[in-house]
Amino acid sequence: MPNEVKSRNAGKEKKIVRNLERPIQKYRFLIQSSFALLCIWIGYDFYRFAHFLESNGSAEFFKRPPGVDGFLPISSMMSFYYFISTGIIHPVHPAGMFIFLAIILMSIVFGKSFCSWLCPVGFISELIGDFGEKIFKRKLKLPKWIDIPLRSLKYLLLGFLFYAVFVLMNLVAVKAFLDSPYNQAADLKMYYFFVDISKTALIVIGSLFLLSIIVRNFWCRFLCPYGALLGIFSFLSPNKIKRNPVSCIDCGLCAKACPSSIKVDKILTVYSDECSTCLNCIDACPVEDTLDLKSVFTKKKISKKFVAIGVVSIFMAVTGFAMITGHWHNNITKDEYLVHYKLMDTYGHPTGTEAVKEFDKEAAEKKLVNGTDTEKNIVSPDKGKIKNSTGNN
Ligand code: SF4
Ligand code: SF4
Repeated sequence: MPNEVKSRNAGKEKKIVRNLERPIQKYRFLIQSSFALLCIWIGYDFYRFAHFLESNGSAEFFKRPPGVDGFLPISSMMSFYYFISTGIIHPVHPAGMFIFLAIILMSIVFGKSFCSWLCPVGFISELIGDFGEKIFKRKLKLPKWIDIPLRSLKYLLLGFLFYAVFVLMNLVAVKAFLDSPYNQAADLKMYYFFVDISKTALIVIGSLFLLSIIVRNFWCRFLCPYGALLGIFSFLSPNKIKRNPVSCIDCGLCAKACPSSIKVDKILTVYSDECSTCLNCIDACPVEDTLDLKSVFTKKKISKKFVAIGVVSIFMAVTGFAMITGHWHNNITKDEYLVHYKLMDTYGHPTGTEAVKEFDKEAAEKKLVNGTDTEKNIVSPDKGKIKNSTGNN
C-alpha cells in the first residue's frame, strides 16, 4: 500500500503521509463486550439472590451482587450529593455512589467516554445503529430543526432530577430518602420492573429499539439524563479531538465516521457535549498527524491505547478502592431484604413536587441529625414516619 495519499482538492494537491496507525475500534468493542458480559453476570447473580427471597429464605442463599447498584442512578446521585455535603458514605447502595464517581471522573479526564467504552446501553444502541445502517445502507439523520429540540430533552429530564434533589430536598430529606425502605428496596423494584415487565414498558422499550434502528443512538442522543450529565462534565475535560487544518485534505471521512454526527471536518477542536471520545473519527482519518486527541494544555497527542487503558483504569481504581476500604457491600441484611421483598409494593416514591415538599418537611420535623445517628433508620412504608431499627418512632 503506498504510504501517500493525495488531496481531493484539485487546487491544492499535495503529497501527504498516510496514517498507518492501527484502529482502536477492535479494542473498544472488546472492552464494551467485556463490560456487557459483566453486567449479564451481575444480572444472573441478582436473579439467584431474588430466587432466595422468593422462596422466603428456604432456597440456597446467594449473595446480592453490589454491582447492581450501578443501575440505580438516582440513588447513586443522591448518595454522592450526601457524600460531598457531609463526607459520609451512605451505607445503602454505596457501590452505586462509587460507580457514579468513577463515571464522572472518566468524563472529566476523557470526556463522555463512559457512553462509548463501558455503558451497556450505549453498546446495545451502537449494535442496533450498525444494524440500521446495514438495512438502510446509510446513516439516517434527523433534520436540524427537529434534532436540536430533541437533544435538549435529556437536559430537561436532568434538570427535573436536579430540581427534585437539589432544590426541593434539603440534606435532612436526602438522608431520610437514602435511609428509606424505597431506596433500600430500589434494586428489587428495578429487578421486578424488568422481570414482570408491563405492556406499557414493553411498548416503550420496543419503540426505542425501533427508533434506534432508524436514528442511531436514539435513547443516548435524545433522552438519557445520565448522558446529559456526563456531557456537561465533559466540558471540563482538557483532552479534545483536534484537527490540523494544514495537513487535512478535506476528505470528510472523520465526519462520516462520527456516530454523533459532529462535523469534525469543519472545526479545529471538538468541544461538543455529544462527543463520546469513541475515536472513530481518528481511526477514519487517512492522513498522519491530522486528527488526534490532544491535551489543550500541553498540546501533546494522547495515544488511542492510552485512552482505552485510562478509561478502564479509572473505573477499576475507583471501584477497587471501594472494595478494599469496605465500602462496596451495602449494610442491608438478608432478613431485611426478606421483609422488603414482601412489602416493596407498598413503598411509594416521592416523585411529585408536592410529595417531595411534604417529605422534606416531615423529615425536617423529625430532626434527623445528619450522619450522627449510628443506628440504622428505617422509614415505615407510610411515607415520612421514621423509626429506627428497634422499632421506636
Ligand atoms: S467526534 Fe470523534 S470521538 Fe467524538 S463522537 Fe465523533 S467520532 Fe467519536
Ligand atoms: S481530519 Fe477529517 S477531513 Fe481532514 S483528512 Fe482527516 S478525515 Fe479527512
